[in-house]
Amino acid sequence: MIPPIASKFVAGESPAEALEHTRHLNDRNVKAILNLLGEHYHERGPADEDAEAYVRLLEDIDTAEAEACISVKPSQVGLDVETTVFRENMERITDAAAKKDVFVWIDMEDHETTDATLDTFEELTRKHEGGVGVCIQANLKRTEEDLKRLADLPGKVRLVKGAYDEPESIALKEKEEVNAAYREYLEFMFEEFDGGIAVGSHDPAMIEYAKELHEEHGTDFEIQMLMGVREDAQYELAEEYEVYQYVPYGGKWLSYFYRRIMERKENLLFAVRAILS
Ligand code: FAD
Repeated sequence: MIPPIASKFVAGESPAEALEHTRHLNDRNVKAILNLLGEHYHERGPADEDAEAYVRLLEDIDTAEAEACISVKPSQVGLDVETTVFRENMERITDAAAKKDVFVWIDMEDHETTDATLDTFEELTRKHEGGVGVCIQANLKRTEEDLKRLADLPGKVRLVKGAYDEPESIALKEKEEVNAAYREYLEFMFEEFDGGIAVGSHDPAMIEYAKELHEEHGTDFEIQMLMGVREDAQYELAEEYEVYQYVPYGGKWLSYFYRRIMERKENLLFAVRAILS
């Protein structure tokens, strides 16, 4: 059992708890993106184990008839071991997902992983005719070129601002610059993509801009936010738009929870209040 203090951001330790949370979301028209917490494995054993856990989760999603997809971190399934391990495990997961008709997202990690992640995405999304999506980061200078490549591929693309502290030589460092790039990439996606656009942001300004672009171009899109962040907005948006909540679960919840409370002072206050009560 995870302590109540962490349960705002993490659905529980087990797949059953993640699916219970999914049921509540589905009742409010929000779909789930399930993520088993874990990353940066340097040996094949734990990477294979987590890949296997995802395969079992796909069975559970199917049995529960849940409106849910999954999202996998490359270093969780072997990218820090060897690119071929990552590729093999992702293929195993996407093959199993295709049988159950469940969509698979590939999260994006730091810039050293971008090429391997995009190459594997391209291969798998062609194999599974669009049953796979990849995340792309507005703070990286290379993203303009990457989006041109992605425009010609089936599947979905989740645009985020970028969570990793990248060197200035390859990344935008100022918040305003990243926001401007995010808008510019949204414009490109709404103009050039046939659909499959995911706005992975809590920022009301970016979501509003995506809505405007949708009105202008008619291209389909979805909004994705994290569990525990602007949940009222998620439910409200779900009355009109397709909304997904990213739902982390699993035994490795502590470092994820720590990241969430450190990134925003309101989250820290929430944690302190929960301890005091
Ligand atoms: P920010 O720029 O952090 O904030 C902008 C505005 O949003 C704030 O001023 C406020 O109005 C609102 N806001 C933001 N947070 C809160 C809050 N806690 N409560 C209330 N209002 C808030 N990054 C990666 O690098 N790789 C990934 O694979 C990846 N996947 C992601 C998947 C999803 C579904 C999401 C939502 C994010 C993901 N990220 C990923 C993280 C992302 O890169 C950003 O670091 C993170 O989302 C913060 O940027 P933002 O656009 O949400 O808003």
